[in-house]
Amino acid sequence: MIFDIQRFSTHDGPGIRTVVFFKGCPLACAWCENPESQSPRPELLYTKAQCIGCHSCLQADNGGAVQSDPGGGILVDRSVEPPASLESVCPARALRIAGREASVAEILAEVRKDLSFFATSGGGLTLSGGEPLAQIDLAEELLGAAAAEGLDIAIETCLAVGRKAVERVADLPLHWLADLKHVEPEAFRRGTGGEVELTLGNLRYLAERGVDLSLRVPVVPGFNDDEASMRGILEFAAALPRPALPRPAAAGPVGGTGPAGGTGSVAGRHLDLLPYHDLAAGKYAALGREYPYPLGLRLEAGFVETCAELGRSLGLDISLGG
Ligand code: SF4
Repeated sequence: MIFDIQRFSTHDGPGIRTVVFFKGCPLACAWCENPESQSPRPELLYTKAQCIGCHSCLQADNGGAVQSDPGGGILVDRSVEPPASLESVCPARALRIAGREASVAEILAEVRKDLSFFATSGGGLTLSGGEPLAQIDLAEELLGAAAAEGLDIAIETCLAVGRKAVERVADLPLHWLADLKHVEPEAFRRGTGGEVELTLGNLRYLAERGVDLSLRVPVVPGFNDDEASMRGILEFAAALPRPALPRPAAAGPVGGTGPAGGTGSVAGRHLDLLPYHDLAAGKYAALGREYPYPLGLRLEAGFVETCAELGRSLGLDISLGG
């Protein structure tokens, strides 16, 4: 069950990438930028401002998903699963179905269209969501097949899944882009509905295995935009084990000056700070959901930059905005 395949992405791993968005997530973050990703079932998005009132959707086989609205436009019955054909009957693109079943062969056929871009940019396939590891059978088969074809593979994950799911793909040559939203159990539960130890345990497990692991920290008003929360997050990230860099060839006497058989420095842990924004508010309206933050809400000026400085002082390789 996926809800989008997006081509030419430049923020979801190295190079130019094709991103496959899985539907369904074990968390329910209040600020989610893809609210249509959270439910594992197909959903109808209705953008009232685009509706021209032609009523084509009412005349089509809509399975009871839409009804006439005496106030203009249409009413969506969200208890009914919308038929996949409903999107195509709307001439104004006011209707969109998020969620469809897709096979590995079908997804890979779409991904292969961009092989030449991958080759010139070092890009490839990224799984995102929703949470790809929540559909571990599809994720494992898709990543395995892509890797067998020589595609570069990456995964964006909240890691709020059981260890067994992580283990099933841990041996693949993946770029892991993993969320680190908070380290305090109560704050994490309030903001996401999940248990933080699941995520932190999986992060430690991956870091100890020495996988290619980058961290992503959404900085969200009222959730983690305070010094204590961010310090906890950054210190946790800095304390994760990091792979040792190969020691450069020593100049001078044979054997160099370092400890015999030892290594040089360790690789910097990359961490993206992702400042909150409200660009997804329209999607909440299209799903019939209330956006939980006041429009126009912003982080305090300079806060993210201060966090970046703190992260760098802890030895992290920080970037802003993904
Ligand atoms: S088909 Fe589209 S434009 Fe026409 S009434 Fe339905 S939602 Fe509105």
